[in-house]
Amino acid sequence: MSEPVTAPANTGDLSQFTPHPIVNGSKAVYDLDLQMDEQSQFTVKAIIDVTNTSADHWDQLMFYMIPNVFTLPDEHYIYRKDAQFILNNVLINGNKTSYTLDQDSLAVPLKDYLAPSAHTKVEVNYTFTLPEKGIRFARTGQSYDLAQWYPMLATYENGWNKQPYILAIESYHTDFSDFTLHYKLPGKYRVISTSDLDPVESVSGGVLKAEHVKEFMVSFTKDLNPVRQIVDNTEIKVWAGTEDKPHMENALKTAAGALHFFNQNIGTYPHKQLDVILGDRLSMEYPGIVTIYSKEDIKHVIVHEIAHQWFYGVVSSDPFHDGWLDEGMTELATSLYMQDYSYSESLYKPYKQYSNLPLSDYQNGEIGTSLYAQPPLKFRELLEHRKDDGTDFLQAYYKTYQYKQVDTKEFVDFVKAYFGMEDQSFFDGWIK
Ligand SMILES: [Zn+2]
Repeated sequence: MSEPVTAPANTGDLSQFTPHPIVNGSKAVYDLDLQMDEQSQFTVKAIIDVTNTSADHWDQLMFYMIPNVFTLPDEHYIYRKDAQFILNNVLINGNKTSYTLDQDSLAVPLKDYLAPSAHTKVEVNYTFTLPEKGIRFARTGQSYDLAQWYPMLATYENGWNKQPYILAIESYHTDFSDFTLHYKLPGKYRVISTSDLDPVESVSGGVLKAEHVKEFMVSFTKDLNPVRQIVDNTEIKVWAGTEDKPHMENALKTAAGALHFFNQNIGTYPHKQLDVILGDRLSMEYPGIVTIYSKEDIKHVIVHEIAHQWFYGVVSSDPFHDGWLDEGMTELATSLYMQDYSYSESLYKPYKQYSNLPLSDYQNGEIGTSLYAQPPLKFRELLEHRKDDGTDFLQAYYKTYQYKQVDTKEFVDFVKAYFGMEDQSFFDGWIK
């Protein structure tokens, strides 16, 4: 072990560095119409204005249609008996057209090629029910959590980048988009959504909008109630049912502390509201919302999911090919705030798998170490050696790439430039 050294004088000097973020060649604007009936069945008319921002002529469009995967009995880990999904039709510029739906891939062939800069209007009509033990897309008690519930346009990078659905972790990758949601409900529900315009009272319908967000999550609930606090001009609402009521005040305190720390040290939180939903749910981040499985160490998980608002919500990366970037930087931010790396230490298994493999290359159990634990632990070594608290690095990274997409190569180039590294040896053995 060598003695700590102070950071070289050129640390943080990015004057010679030119960022080259990844450019996605597909853009979407979503106009979603959602109706729920008395039997808890949802009917959706999704209109997606798709623009070809690539240099290629397209012969098809590609969407993620994740609600379909829960209805496939062959996918036995994902299959939910009570999930239903029926695709009624697909229209292009008002005309019915053919499509193929395979697992979570909805491919829509284009009779006329879509030229660079051209756009087209796709309408998808479908119905679904939410499975009770769903994954993100789920009914829990009297709450309907709609995540990844609409046709999400895939990204286009030298062809459509549409990878298979993977249960363990997010396998879908979307760009920043604008959303309008019209919704109609059979009775009054409280509404929790990605939008900053959630109604204060229970409602049976309305319109929500969000701009420049990676996805649009919405939850309609009769059994969750909020506690609120304003922090740095953002309203934090922690939602829970009776069972999780005892955790609410602590959760609010944790969320408030994390939000303020990340505001001060990384960049300003991009929404006016932050919803934290506690309960029997998968812990997960969405723009403006986090869901927290309340039976684990909720302090760590709340901070982690909130940190994703910066690393995922604003700095974008492809979770299938570069899942370590958002999980690794999120967990680093979490550890810096908590001044505690014990979560990563407890996950870490020294079998030396690379952190930047595609999700499909990992065996059972390798994702935790490789994506979540190894990156922050490697950065801890680097930062401790340089007597650097790490927050300036995360802030510079965030400011350089906000609302842009990073991949492994770009990240490595940035780290080398930021820390004035002469070579790539910092990444030896853990980044391929
Ligand atoms: Zn995460």
